[in-house]
Amino acid sequence: MSEQMELQDLKFQGIKINYLYVCKRKLWLFSKNITFENQSDKVLLGKVLHEYSYPKEDAKEVLIDNLIMIDILSDGAVREVKYSSRMKEADIMQVMYYLYYLKQKGIEKQGIINYPKERRKEILELTPEYEQKVKQALSEIEKITSQVTPPPATKQKICKSCAYFEFCWG
Ligand code: SF4
Repeated sequence: MSEQMELQDLKFQGIKINYLYVCKRKLWLFSKNITFENQSDKVLLGKVLHEYSYPKEDAKEVLIDNLIMIDILSDGAVREVKYSSRMKEADIMQVMYYLYYLKQKGIEKQGIINYPKERRKEILELTPEYEQKVKQALSEIEKITSQVTPPPATKQKICKSCAYFEFCWG
């Protein structure tokens, strides 16, 4: 893999971690740049919620090393805003990956996941156990995305709201 491709790959790593826990097929499709996410109402709604739920907070999107786009609040925490807590483990792992990445850069932060629709938030700390889990997730992602064919589609609740629904079941 060339250096440029590696960089490109890293940019999407947070999302890939999330998809690893949501659906391995989704992860594979996304990794091959087969993306329909922009057409998904839920993603759009998530963006709208993000914009209107925290208008007064001093948050800005920061592109760290030109690699990952995340919210850094004024207190320095890393934040993700999610539409619902249905995929809680995936969301936690995505934020843990950001914290892990920053730690490699010598920056230790807290993570926050906001669920504005549910009016609650999760505060996260990168523990040694989660650090280990992130490393395992990264190597599993490598394994899955280097397969020539996608993992088979398996019907699950989330399929109905997945941007790949037509692709898998149409
Ligand atoms: S539609 Fe279902 S099986 Fe297909 S990628 Fe989405 S979650 Fe996975």
